Amino acid sequence: MSRVRARIEGTVQGVGFRPYVYRLADELGVAGHVLNDSRGVVVEAEAPDQTVEHFLARLALEAPPLASVERVTSEQLEELGERGFSIRESPSGGEPRAAVTPDSATCDDCLAELFDPDDRRFRYPFTNCTNCGPRFTIVRDVPYDRPNTTMAAFEMCTACLAEYRDPADRRFHAQPNACPECGPQVRLAYAGGGAPRDAGARDAIEATARALLDGAIVAVKGIGGFHLACRADDEAAVADLRARKHREDKPFALMAPDVEVVRELVGLKPPELNLLTDRARPIVLARRRPDAPVGDSVAPGSTELGVMLPYSPLHHVLLADAGTTLVMTSGNVSDEPIAFHDDDACERLAEIADVFLLHDRPIETRTDDSVVRHAEGRRMLLRRSRGYVPSAIPLPLDCDRHLLACGAELKNTFAVAKGGSAWVGHHVGDLKNFETLRSFVTGIEHFRRLFAVEPELVAHDLHPEYLSTKHALELDGVRLVGVQHHHAHLAACLAEHGERAPAVGAIFDGTGYGDDGTVWGGELLYGDLEDFERVGLLFPVRMPGGEAAIRQPWRMACAWLAASVEGPPRPPRQLTRQVDERAWEQVSELAASGLASPLTTSAGRLFDAVAALCGLRAVVNYEGQAAVELEAACDLGEQRAYPMPLLDDDGPLVMDARPLVRALVDDLDAGVDAGTIAARFHNALAATTAHGCTLAAERASTDTVVLSGGVFQNRRLLGRTASLLSDGGLRVLTPELLPPNDGGIAYGQLAVAAARVAADGGPDA
Ligand code: ZN
Ligand code: ZN
Ligand code: FE
Repeated sequence: MSRVRARIEGTVQGVGFRPYVYRLADELGVAGHVLNDSRGVVVEAEAPDQTVEHFLARLALEAPPLASVERVTSEQLEELGERGFSIRESPSGGEPRAAVTPDSATCDDCLAELFDPDDRRFRYPFTNCTNCGPRFTIVRDVPYDRPNTTMAAFEMCTACLAEYRDPADRRFHAQPNACPECGPQVRLAYAGGGAPRDAGARDAIEATARALLDGAIVAVKGIGGFHLACRADDEAAVADLRARKHREDKPFALMAPDVEVVRELVGLKPPELNLLTDRARPIVLARRRPDAPVGDSVAPGSTELGVMLPYSPLHHVLLADAGTTLVMTSGNVSDEPIAFHDDDACERLAEIADVFLLHDRPIETRTDDSVVRHAEGRRMLLRRSRGYVPSAIPLPLDCDRHLLACGAELKNTFAVAKGGSAWVGHHVGDLKNFETLRSFVTGIEHFRRLFAVEPELVAHDLHPEYLSTKHALELDGVRLVGVQHHHAHLAACLAEHGERAPAVGAIFDGTGYGDDGTVWGGELLYGDLEDFERVGLLFPVRMPGGEAAIRQPWRMACAWLAASVEGPPRPPRQLTRQVDERAWEQVSELAASGLASPLTTSAGRLFDAVAALCGLRAVVNYEGQAAVELEAACDLGEQRAYPMPLLDDDGPLVMDARPLVRALVDDLDAGVDAGTIAARFHNALAATTAHGCTLAAERASTDTVVLSGGVFQNRRLLGRTASLLSDGGLRVLTPELLPPNDGGIAYGQLAVAAARVAADGGPDA
């Protein structure tokens, strides 16, 4: 006989780990006990030698689906001759390690019950268990117990309570446990307060499905907020939804009933299938099939569709009843944040939705659907939110100070950290209005409580006008750490890959505040977590009229022509019809004088200029639209590239796009089509970027190159640049756990702050 004490660390609380250990011990005839403590799970096991070994081996291997075991350590104890196995109360004291996990898609066991007419949870839209269901979106406070969730108001019935108390049950300590007798309920409401029109339906969900099939637009309350839904193959309904939502071209996401239907919409490679069926259930961007049965207005001009599978029991029942793919777009008007409270939704969406499918389980934290893509052999998150948040992401160095990072302005996320762990918040959105600012502030408060973080250091962007920067500057009694925007992009990618050594980074995005007060965005950096040097940049041009140039790519076309050709810039004929002649003249004067026109090295703005020159997009109605459409236009077979030399004088390398613009104009004059031009442009930028990185890496004696920034969401640019670099023997890192766009900035800021503390011995040293 032997007795051991084993400690299991990782995500092992609130995921059904103790009942799992109990069942395993029971099966193998092991005596002892299991309990949660401040660091994880502790097991004491007593049995014949071999049985104990077997027990420990299986412990990590067969852990429940939501658990993630990072480490198992064990020590020998004196035998006690104990009989039976028990789950013991947690000892009090010690700092609780928060056990809040992300929301997880309905598990197979719950699904089987959901569609079993004999089960007491048949069609019950809030079915869940220890292995699935809402978590982060319903948590109000820690510890993660029912009274600290939005389920507090629902008292479990006898049957549910019995499940909750039975260590052998799948619902042992499942905090959101519920059934039709005791749990939340759905109800229908009609815009304008009309009475229900579909008395024949067996319940509110079936009535909703019928309304959808008839072409209605429905606001559906889900896990992290409201969706606006309609039939995806009903062009009239989809176009109507666009008009009512004031969303002109930005693609809508889809929810398909099952994988087979997804295959009719997009070509699905094995890694994409894995992402689609992952417990996080993100929206997966995949190549659209030419015959995809969806209305033209679903994703105009896009070569991809964003598709997800049902992830809550409510969605499963609704999609099964509807039997067809639905548009499921965020429940908001244009750029507002997604609605997540009933009253607010009914008010704000009153002009959009015909029907509201509501329920009485409150949502504590607004959490958008996550968006992910698999391209060039790499996973790329474009938005990290529901299903991923609040999983911890390690930092490559321990920091004995508690940290807060405020992130950037667009696609804002915040993050907190202590020890070697960081928790990056849900997607807050563009910090431009009161509503998003409130989400940002309450989100930070929420994370401070959940993870017991009392920030001593606060990291922020250098841009003085970002609301996130202003928030940081207003905090009392903290040490501030200003982090340059593109350095944060570089550091974020290095840190998630556990890299502390310096590397070269090509960081391309739309806008970031530079060290010299100009607008950066086409940068080659050499640096580590602590510090960086700017070793290369895109040739700087004017941004005529500042911010206006972001919404009107034709202004960047004008600026690039002004910088590249002799004499006053003339719009190519592909663009003339789309631009007012007088406006063009005024803008060329701005570009020449520099009045109200800051210098920029932005790669995003170069994409804008090229898209406008080709006549593809003179004015955008969502961020990044010109670049998305330019990529979509690419002739995939075109291999030639425009000239884009690397100027190597004193100081940083300069990627000179002026010869590129001149050659492009010649092509336009010669009547070369936009697809060929778009491809030659991508090929040129990839080649020059790879060349610049290679040279910089050689000079710095490193073999590692980071590619990040929102512009690298472009598959063609990323794919070609990465393969040129790897062919040259360099190691290419890209962000995989966090987005390459500004959604990754907060984590990068944390990494920089932690590295600076480590370097100078802390703020008090
Ligand atoms: Zn389940
Ligand atoms: Zn019940
Ligand atoms: Fe950025």
